[in-house]
Amino acid sequence: MKKIMYSSTNGHPELLDFKEALLRGQAPDKGLYVPDSIPSIPKEELASFSGMEYPEIALCVMRRYLGDLIPEDDLVAILKDAYDFPVPIERVYDEKYVMRLDRGPTFSFKDFAARLMGRLMQYFLKEEGRSMVILTATSGDTGSAVAHAFYGLDNIKVVVLFPEEEVTGRQRKQMTTLGENVTVFAVDGKFDDCQAMVKQAFVDPDFADLNLSSANSINIGRLIPQSIYYFYAWSKVAAKDREIVFSVPCGNFGNVMAGLIAMRMGLPVHKFVIATNENDEFPRFLSTGDYRPISPSVKCISNAMNVGHPSNLARVFWLYEGSMDENGTVVKAPDIEAMRREIFAVCITDSETRAAISDAYNRFDTLLEPHGAVGWAGLARYLKEVEDWSPCVSLETADPAKFPEEVVRAVGLEPPVPESMALLDGMEERFDLVAGEYGSFKEKLSELFRG
Ligand SMILES: *Cc1c(COP(=O)(O)O)cnc(C)c1O
Repeated sequence: MKKIMYSSTNGHPELLDFKEALLRGQAPDKGLYVPDSIPSIPKEELASFSGMEYPEIALCVMRRYLGDLIPEDDLVAILKDAYDFPVPIERVYDEKYVMRLDRGPTFSFKDFAARLMGRLMQYFLKEEGRSMVILTATSGDTGSAVAHAFYGLDNIKVVVLFPEEEVTGRQRKQMTTLGENVTVFAVDGKFDDCQAMVKQAFVDPDFADLNLSSANSINIGRLIPQSIYYFYAWSKVAAKDREIVFSVPCGNFGNVMAGLIAMRMGLPVHKFVIATNENDEFPRFLSTGDYRPISPSVKCISNAMNVGHPSNLARVFWLYEGSMDENGTVVKAPDIEAMRREIFAVCITDSETRAAISDAYNRFDTLLEPHGAVGWAGLARYLKEVEDWSPCVSLETADPAKFPEEVVRAVGLEPPVPESMALLDGMEERFDLVAGEYGSFKEKLSELFRG
């Protein structure tokens, strides 16, 4: 098997293996790491997926990217441990399905990426006898997925900052009830203040020895694991040579980028529907060829997708032989005709999102939340405006109980609260308050690590 190396989308000449790219996060020229070739999975092997469980399919995908960095027995154990929750694929009607990626510990699809990234980081750090501090600012979902993913792991400490007034009670409790190696600070300020404090800590020479890392969403170690569920879905509803349509609700485009990689690996995909909310910079680009980030981003009810310039677009452009820098400037135009053959992009407004929640529930008894509803509405548009196709899988990226207000508003029903989410209400919280300026945070951080 050829060893895959990783390089920057901005053209930095350095080539790293998976381990180094994972531990580094972002390239020194601010580009994103991409593989120097995309491994393919032969047809016969794909055919064997239909009888496999999730962790087994994960092994077939991941070992191609990891090469010999992790012995197979160790990798099997890591994958079983990371993916120990169900991945339901519900039939809505005919051969149109919803895949629920919301059954992980924090009830969003971000668990799929974060849990494997955390375990891979721990493995490599242990091997080298190194330790690391993950420092991350969150406006809600990312912080809890990252905190849970690294919770209880040796060699890694996690520090999360969140804006005191801007997260919901449940989101906060998903972080503050963990303890052990997870320390949480509520900041008297906005999300931007949290992010500024994190950035300052990264360049503070007093913390140089702590080995700070951000574990942020552009890490290659978070991207690749997301390819796995596309193979899983196909193997369960299509298999053989049948081509499938996937509909993906998109924000930073990590999810759909992983799907596009799965297709390049040989997965028989007929089309990707890229469904955005009113932040429609990509659907506009695909129709006009002109890319304009949206600033400031539009506030929509699918709030995890309120992104005016998706960071993973740099990777999407790379895949289609173009180039885009970290600010969204198109350095080299991609092959837009090829993009249009493989992608149908559509903008779904908030009122269409609400109508989709209510329609899916009233007609098919399928309960969706705003993000998954954007995907479902996008699929409906494709089937109506382009062609009817089967099989189709639309991705649901969060549990409806995370967004009870919108669900109640659309269908008049309280979404059922999963047991472990309900348990949070009675659990003890632990977090510290800090002012929204670096000095007081630095003091706390020094206390924490220097005793
Ligand atoms: C992060 C997130 C998205 C957007 O995913 P991207 O990979 O950033 O496109 C969609 N839905 C939910 C619930 C999310 O948390």
